[in-house]
Amino acid sequence: MALIVQKYGGSSIANPERIKKVAKRIVATKRRGKQLVVVVSALGDTTDRLIKLANQVSDKPAEREIDMLVSTGEQISAALLAMAIQSLHSQAISFTGPQVGIVTDSSHTRARILSINTKRIREELKRDRIVIIAGFQGSDVKDNITTLGRGGSDLTAVALAGMLKAGCCEIYSDVEGVYTADPKIVPQARKLRALSYDEILEMASLGAQVLQNRAVEVAKKFNVPIRVRSSFSRGRGTLITREAKSMEKAVVSGVTLNKNEAKVSLRGVPDRPGIAARVFKTIADKDININMIIQNVGSRGISDISFTVMKGDLGKTLAVVKRVAKDIGARGVNFNEDIAKVSVVGVGMQSHPGIAARMFASLAAQGINIEMISTSEIKISCIIAKKHAEKAVRAIHAKFGLGRKK
Ligand code: ASP
Ligand code: MG
Repeated sequence: MALIVQKYGGSSIANPERIKKVAKRIVATKRRGKQLVVVVSALGDTTDRLIKLANQVSDKPAEREIDMLVSTGEQISAALLAMAIQSLHSQAISFTGPQVGIVTDSSHTRARILSINTKRIREELKRDRIVIIAGFQGSDVKDNITTLGRGGSDLTAVALAGMLKAGCCEIYSDVEGVYTADPKIVPQARKLRALSYDEILEMASLGAQVLQNRAVEVAKKFNVPIRVRSSFSRGRGTLITREAKSMEKAVVSGVTLNKNEAKVSLRGVPDRPGIAARVFKTIADKDININMIIQNVGSRGISDISFTVMKGDLGKTLAVVKRVAKDIGARGVNFNEDIAKVSVVGVGMQSHPGIAARMFASLAAQGINIEMISTSEIKISCIIAKKHAEKAVRAIHAKFGLGRKK
């Protein structure tokens, strides 16, 4: 019998009406002859509310206790959904993560799944029950409850789908799927029918945030097809698999925008071996992630180095960089927070030349200056002034003809 894993996000089950709707949908799927494992998030914004409560009773709540607390959100959802399904005269049973043998390491609030013992789940499926599992949680070898990081229910669902060899992992939320750009910025943005793991990984890290990145990594490892779809409609959503190239012939799949980075420049750096190594080692030692780097061609033994970091790391970064700048005799350090990164992503660009040129041309046509560029096999990113961000996304989206056909 075909087995599918479904995951419902917080907005899909935010209140009793929605829970009942989801229950109906699940029962209908079951009647079509599927075996079903359903993973749930906490209702609505429960997790945020619980974290707020923790911070109201303590300045520094222990991470172990945070996990004890926030894991309850998903447990509530699982029990309520099981009840709603039972009231439709279908058989369902709910479990917490630890109850179905989801074992993690002990890194509270960001634990990694080590193993899943699927015995109990298989037994219940054999009894023809719909198995509901609280997402986002597990327990370590000492039975401490752990959670998998924000958005971790996606990871629970994908990991279970991998272990149970499910045919598909369906991720339900309030969006119809993955779009060619943020529809709030580009009204003509089109929903993609198919996408590859690598593309969604690039899009998520660039700010498209539809699926937890770690979940996609696990899906890729176990080759689990994911379908991102809305629980509020009948749409087929976006299918994410290893190779989506043949399904949609577009060279570029989407345009993304990220405003969370800041640029740091070291001016007048001595141009000789070992300097870049020294600068970036000092930064890495402080656990700061660098995103883009450019170094200008040196002249008269001197060059400039610029790079970007997450805005949240800017203060920390400037402190170390100013110190190294002095040590190596650089002329000065600047920074700029008013930048944005626009990127085009697509597996098709590996076999199509000229994508970068077209992207730059569309920015030039808008009179937008490019401050930095970086490329990978399936992505080209440009740093531009923040005030041009939305205009840039729209221009690039149009240039590649990504919008809906009228
Ligand atoms: N409830 C958790 C969160 O809000 C996990 C999830 O929704 O996937 O992050
Ligand atoms: Mg969520």
